[in-house]
Amino acid sequence: AIRVESVTKTFDTAAVLRDLTLDIRAGELLALLGPSGSGKTTLLRIIAGLDRPDSGRIIFGKDDATRLPVQERAVGFVFQHYALFKHLTVADNIAYGLNARKRSDRPAKAEIKKRVGDLLDLIKLSTFGDRYPSQLSGGQRQRIALARALAVEPRVLLLDEPFGALDAQVRKDLRRWLREIHDRTGQTTIFVTHDQDEALELSDRVAVLGNGRLEQVGTPDEVQEHPASPTVLKFLGDTI
Ligand code: ATP
Repeated sequence: AIRVESVTKTFDTAAVLRDLTLDIRAGELLALLGPSGSGKTTLLRIIAGLDRPDSGRIIFGKDDATRLPVQERAVGFVFQHYALFKHLTVADNIAYGLNARKRSDRPAKAEIKKRVGDLLDLIKLSTFGDRYPSQLSGGQRQRIALARALAVEPRVLLLDEPFGALDAQVRKDLRRWLREIHDRTGQTTIFVTHDQDEALELSDRVAVLGNGRLEQVGTPDEVQEHPASPTVLKFLGDTI
């Protein structure tokens, strides 16, 4: 499990996260939902170790990770525009995080090859290993990006609007597909979106952020049926 404990973050003079506490359960897919500017990306970056909180702690299991650099956190991420390496094949893209490890931590070549093959099967792109990113559609690229993030067996997978740049139908398909992958892997995942439908359809629990505070966290049914604040009601109201 992962705990975000009393995290505060201010940029210049604007408080972006205000004493925010959130527990992410092992194996769950948590959607982080909130209006633009509510602090979703900032929270994800702090969990990843790309940003430091002004105060508060990030705890992975029993370990205080607040001061761990990003490379030592074992997190995987996919961002909306997190491009694949253009000069590497799909297989080498997926293997990148494993190949980048220092020799003593790096799996053997054959093992890396097997893991890449398994991941290509998982994302249903088995025959795409030798292609280059320029030969893929946008949706296929994001599937590869997801496989690359999973390759290092992250403690948590962080997805920031991963399908945001894709058209509506592809987005819908990928949503269903991500849910399937999650059911198969049980990978602890935080999925940032400002799309209510996406959050409600995809997640085990939804955390609603408003103005740097956690307004509510609960199952999709709970937050829809018993919105805890006017912000939640306003934000989820349209879909009821
Ligand atoms: P969106 O859905 O639009 O991506 P968000 O909920 O992810 O929004 P954040 O990206 O976390 O929101 O931004 C929250 C606030 O913090 C915004 O007002 C933004 O301008 C500000 N902010 C984020 N990063 C920085 C930074 N590096 N320097 C200054 N201000 C920042």
